[in-house]
Amino acid sequence: MERNERAALVTGAGNGIGKAAAEVFAAKGYSVVVADLDGDAATRVADSLVDQGVRALPVVVDIADSTSCDAMVDAAIATFGRLDVAVNNAAVGQRATFEGPDSSMIHEMSDVEWNRLIDVNLSGTFYCVRAEMRHMIGRGGGGAIVNVSSSTAVLALEGYVSYVASKKGLAGLTEVAALEGGRHQIRVNTVIPANVVGTKMFASTLGSGPDAERDFGANSPLGRPAQPIDIANACCWACSDEAGYVSGTSILVDGATTVRHPSSRRDG
Ligand code: NDP
Repeated sequence: MERNERAALVTGAGNGIGKAAAEVFAAKGYSVVVADLDGDAATRVADSLVDQGVRALPVVVDIADSTSCDAMVDAAIATFGRLDVAVNNAAVGQRATFEGPDSSMIHEMSDVEWNRLIDVNLSGTFYCVRAEMRHMIGRGGGGAIVNVSSSTAVLALEGYVSYVASKKGLAGLTEVAALEGGRHQIRVNTVIPANVVGTKMFASTLGSGPDAERDFGANSPLGRPAQPIDIANACCWACSDEAGYVSGTSILVDGATTVRHPSSRRDG
């Protein structure tokens, strides 16, 4: 692929997994839309890509607002003339306290807390997919979309009902989008990161510091937590021509954590 021949869009690209995905797309020669709620973070990432000779556009987006998502895709087209691939990665986490007045258990959850996550993680991803597919269908020539999910798409976790429901909902969104996109040569998949990826979201949800990362990393058969680049590489592969017949499915990137039987332990 010639440099800048194709354009990629990544939401939540100011931090963590999204930042790593923007960098991988840039390294592969894409022009990159760096979209984030945090405009300063988006600008920092885009500026560092521009310094490396990449065409990069920072865009402020609140994915919970459908007009903001439409404007994000419009900005991509206005600058790069096209949008070939998109990674819908932005999301918010849920802090579960399991007990006490701040409990996030279902019977104590407020409407506000339920809607906060569903509005961003599920409705927000829908708004992104819709805006991206409208452009890709209108332009012709196909495309590829990845929705970043979570291991809670396949497992449940008490105290996290809105996060779990939002991520399980992404599977349905992705499958229908893949069916409807197929006739337009648009592939749609989810990438499911390991239960722990060393990012800001992990720290805000499960605690921070080397002890927290080590404890969760020890649960992995690979003996380490996933890093943003591990997930970003899978997202970029799912968008690549090499994945040309991969659509409507979930790619689990968890270092074999999920398949391990509860009675098995890691020695040494
Ligand atoms: P981070 O919190 O590090 O980064 C998320 C980025 O998304 C932030 O820059 C954040 O901005 C932005 N964002 C939040 N809300 C919105 C919004 N409404 N519109 C646009 N941007 C927004 O998250 P991660 O990199 O850890 O997570 C990325 C994805 O991976 C998410 O979908 C998450 O659910 C998933 N995931 C993460 C895991 C982990 O352990 N980290 C595990 C499993 C899945 P701001 O900083 O302003 O909030």
